[in-house]
Amino acid sequence: MNTDKFLVREGAKLALKKHATDFTGDYTDKKQAEKDLARNIERLGKLQDVMYAQDVYSLLIIFQAMDAAGKDGAIEHVMSGINPQGCHVVSFKQPSSEELDHDFLWRCQKALPERGKIGIFNRSHYEEVLVVRVHPGILQSQNLPQSVKDDRGVWKKRFKAIRDWEDHLAENGTHIIKFFLNVSREEQKNRFLSRINEPDKNWKFSMGDVKERALWDDYMKAYTEAIEATSTKAAPWYVIPADKKWFTRLAISAIVVEKMQSLGLHYPVVTDAHRTELAEAKKLLESEKP
Ligand code: ATP
Ligand code: MG
Repeated sequence: MNTDKFLVREGAKLALKKHATDFTGDYTDKKQAEKDLARNIERLGKLQDVMYAQDVYSLLIIFQAMDAAGKDGAIEHVMSGINPQGCHVVSFKQPSSEELDHDFLWRCQKALPERGKIGIFNRSHYEEVLVVRVHPGILQSQNLPQSVKDDRGVWKKRFKAIRDWEDHLAENGTHIIKFFLNVSREEQKNRFLSRINEPDKNWKFSMGDVKERALWDDYMKAYTEAIEATSTKAAPWYVIPADKKWFTRLAISAIVVEKMQSLGLHYPVVTDAHRTELAEAKKLLESEKP
């Protein structure tokens, strides 16, 4: 799959309207896509095993999207082949009072994956330039210095803080990829309706989601600016078509596999001393009486 199509290059403009939400490339139905997804899931499991053994790199995968775009399902499917010990999912909701007593990157810094692991952020620090931007009252209610609340350049400064932080992480071995699941307004409506109509899905529905939907254009503007300002070589954004869940999952799996393959992962090199130790252990074990 040519995943370049979804990549937002550093410094490039993003016209979300030009990104078809129902794009499925060469795939006409989900059968072939599911086969390819299964292959990628298997590859991911193996790559993660090497990453864990090497204990040098970690991968942080960030998911951002409007409600019902399929973040949860994508995380569940794409990560299904990974050893649960090698993967850590963190969901970011409205900040707690403890979190609000720190800078906006603090809770994310605390949740970063250790070397060798894959960390997944289901929502992230980007909420601080998305929902907080769309609802100016949120910034005003945070315990920030008044000069920050009054600063018209606050979003630009936050973009820079995010870029610098992500650069620093990549430089130190935590590689980052960021996915915006691009669902259409129409498809979101259908998914909300099925959450209302199907009893098993009722629990997923919240009236608040419908209220946020009314602010769709403001959100798209905030997403566009945030993605343009923070897609970098070290931490690129991908805009993933999200109207067809099977394609979303396949595209994400392909990008994660590519990223992990690009890290040049390898199992730790066995030293001469360790090799001697292995040979000794083998001798001991084989000479044991039954
Ligand atoms: P789902 O609805 O699929 O279960 P979700 O990620 O939408 O998943 P919710 O509990 O519905 O989870 O929503 C979390 C809410 O928290 C979102 O509306 C999000 O915008 C909000 N949120 C996250 N981070 C922040 C933040 N830093 N400031 C304010 N609101 C935030
Ligand atoms: Mg929600």
